[in-house]
Amino acid sequence: MNTLSAFNQYTNSLAPNGELMPVLFIGHGSPMNGIEHNVYSENWRNIAKKIPTPVSVLVISAHWLTKGTGITAMNAPKTIHDFGGFPEALYDVQYPAPGNPKLAEETTKLIKKTPVVLDHDWGLDHGAWTVVRHMYPLADIPVLQLSIDYTKDAAYHYDLGAQLYALRKRGVLIIGSGNMVHNLRMVSWQHMHETNYGYDWAVQMNNTFKDLITNGDHAHLIRYEQLGKEASLAIPTPDHYYPLIYTLALQGKKDEAHFFNDYVVGGSLTMTSVIFSEKD
Ligand code: ZN
Repeated sequence: MNTLSAFNQYTNSLAPNGELMPVLFIGHGSPMNGIEHNVYSENWRNIAKKIPTPVSVLVISAHWLTKGTGITAMNAPKTIHDFGGFPEALYDVQYPAPGNPKLAEETTKLIKKTPVVLDHDWGLDHGAWTVVRHMYPLADIPVLQLSIDYTKDAAYHYDLGAQLYALRKRGVLIIGSGNMVHNLRMVSWQHMHETNYGYDWAVQMNNTFKDLITNGDHAHLIRYEQLGKEASLAIPTPDHYYPLIYTLALQGKKDEAHFFNDYVVGGSLTMTSVIFSEKD
């Protein structure tokens, strides 16, 4: 069965009961999580087992920043090792999931906010593959990436993200991959392997983010610059925060937020992740 007929079959099978794919925000943390079997990667694996098998996965990764918006449209996206100074074993990883050019083209039509470029150069960066390879280890589900226009603000990304909503009805799993609290300069590397080693401001922001998400208070999450000094420490640059904004924009009225990997690590990073899904 080719990808397109599989896509159509899944779409048709979903239509009668209107089942919606959940949406995920994943705190990806260190690239080493891509090869380590730890509490984070174990939970990524568990989440994948709990949700319907997607027809494709679309990742908005903190590590693909562009001027304008692109979507990967190749048949065989390459595995990108976009980091330095890690063990050879991490560079040896290949994640040979196929792409889905047809879905890429359809997605460009869903997005009215801006023209979306069909990209043939990128592939899967570590924001995508370090997570998805734990979720779908057989690499048999197509994976696409949508880039983040780094010249735009959170409100722009929220509006753009909302235009992807129809993909949820078509069995596409949308994942925002970043970290809500992400201050690399302040990381205490000797504490990286402890779960729950957090500076006071990072713990406070983790709680603030969770409260706002639980309350569906997207307005304050979009205007994160107004959340005080702690927020400016948590989000010194918005690259790892914008993927969250996409997932918030995709939250439907009946979706509830459930948190997992709720840990502060290395003082100034959170692994806190969210699944948005309808109540059973
Ligand atoms: Zn990252």
